Amino acid sequence: CGIVGYVGGQSALDVVLAGLKRLEYRGYDSAGVAVLADGGLAAAKKAGKLANLEKELADRPLPAGSTGIGHTRWATHGGPTDENAHPHLDNAGRVCVVHNGIIENFAALRAELTDRGHELASETDTEVVAHLLAEAYSSCGELAEAMRQVCRRLEGAFTLVAVHADEPDVVVGARRNSPLVVGVGDGEAFLASDVAAFIAHTREAIELGQDQVVELRRDGVTVTDFDGAPAQVREYHVDWDA
Ligand code: GLU
Repeated sequence: CGIVGYVGGQSALDVVLAGLKRLEYRGYDSAGVAVLADGGLAAAKKAGKLANLEKELADRPLPAGSTGIGHTRWATHGGPTDENAHPHLDNAGRVCVVHNGIIENFAALRAELTDRGHELASETDTEVVAHLLAEAYSSCGELAEAMRQVCRRLEGAFTLVAVHADEPDVVVGARRNSPLVVGVGDGEAFLASDVAAFIAHTREAIELGQDQVVELRRDGVTVTDFDGAPAQVREYHVDWDA
């Protein structure tokens, strides 16, 4: 339902949680976050309100990191449980993804992944994406390219945002029939399903077009179509008061 991603010099967890709070008005049934830190990936997710997630984070703190993603979920496939909350990770725990929308062909993809030995831990349509990203990454070695390859296999409507432990300063997003906006700051960058999530930090925004993949780094943003060709985007200044 709500998505936030961050890479920069601040605490990613603080930025992501504050962003998710700005998106709470949309309604949701569970929430989760992931940060890249110390060469690994650490995630926390909880059914219920953000307060539940914050309590979990107080009980079991994540390591400090400056790259992270977060999600508030409105369940469509699988009930509102901790296990079904996003982010979803691959079996090695190196890549994770959050998702808004519905992957229509998830059942076929799930069967294919299970045949290849993947163990899926949730009932969501989303989880297949984490496993597919892990497979694609192991052959191409680049998260943005892995995302493009995976998106070409997906049917339905989606906003996806992913991070990989091997690319600690990168957040990758993709969209088809679902909103995703980039915020460009000074030495930092944001991704969100709604500018409200990052308006406190920057008003320089880029609206992604249909079927585009964005790679976010501290010093810039690269946008391509699902085939890797440079893409047209709309840059604008957010001038309303948040
Ligand atoms: N279809 C996904 C799920 O049920 C994403 C739902 C959403 O947009 O929050 O987990």
